Amino acid sequence: MKFSHPAADIFVPDASVTPEAALARTTHLCVAAHQDDIEIMAYHGIVECFGLADKWFSGVVVTNGSGSSRTGIYGNYTDAQMQDVRRLEQRKAAFVGDYSIQLQLAHPSAAVKDRANAAVQADLTAIFAAAGADVVYLHQPADKHDTHIGVFGHSLTALRQLPPHQRPKRVFGCEVWRDLDWMVDTDKQVLDVGRFPNLAAALVGVFDSQITGGKRYDLATAGRRLAHATYHTSHATDQFDGITWAMDLTPLVNDPSLSVVDYTLNNNERFKQDVAARLAKFA
Ligand SMILES: [Zn+2]
Repeated sequence: MKFSHPAADIFVPDASVTPEAALARTTHLCVAAHQDDIEIMAYHGIVECFGLADKWFSGVVVTNGSGSSRTGIYGNYTDAQMQDVRRLEQRKAAFVGDYSIQLQLAHPSAAVKDRANAAVQADLTAIFAAAGADVVYLHQPADKHDTHIGVFGHSLTALRQLPPHQRPKRVFGCEVWRDLDWMVDTDKQVLDVGRFPNLAAALVGVFDSQITGGKRYDLATAGRRLAHATYHTSHATDQFDGITWAMDLTPLVNDPSLSVVDYTLNNNERFKQDVAARLAKFA
């Protein structure tokens, strides 16, 4: 198994399995931009597979984690040392979450944001084809981080190139740098992330280098999931202890003629109509 960038990292928590076999048995796959994005956005996939013999979660981090802020015990670290820390933290999460394989492709953010970058495209095309996952988790297309959008865009291109029988059954666009609570309920995909809260806490918690500077991703991620579960329906008792909202991206993968911009903004249009219809009764 070989990827474009010489610093790409391949980690299989179960040393008795080859990387090829670990990728091939993947049923749930997340492709994300940065170290810790997977644990924030695709916990649903991790927990769907946790402890089961016939379901396997695998994670792909596309960037190298360079340029992240450094404070506290990391204050004197060079950029290269910080990349080492982040790579190791991602491996820790893969171990804790019992992932089948963790791939870190080590591309610079600039390469990811370049729509024409052939190296990023080639890596993702090979991974999606070899994994043959049933369920894929991507960044959602209304995210406000351009590197997230870059990973989303390259992933969609790669998925659309798969022959129909190799495409995943479900593709979810998940929240990191923007929630999806603005979508109308009928458009939202409800991902139950309330199970194994101990595991959920540990998975975000291992990324100490990101949290230690004062960004409490651990508390914020748990709080967002709880808030979504509580405010999902006003009358019913909470059905789940935690929810991640997702946009259903499956139609975009299955129909390459669909415009990503139109598809995304149509969600926004339905939200506008919902607000307008409620207010119109009192206007
Ligand atoms: Zn990120």
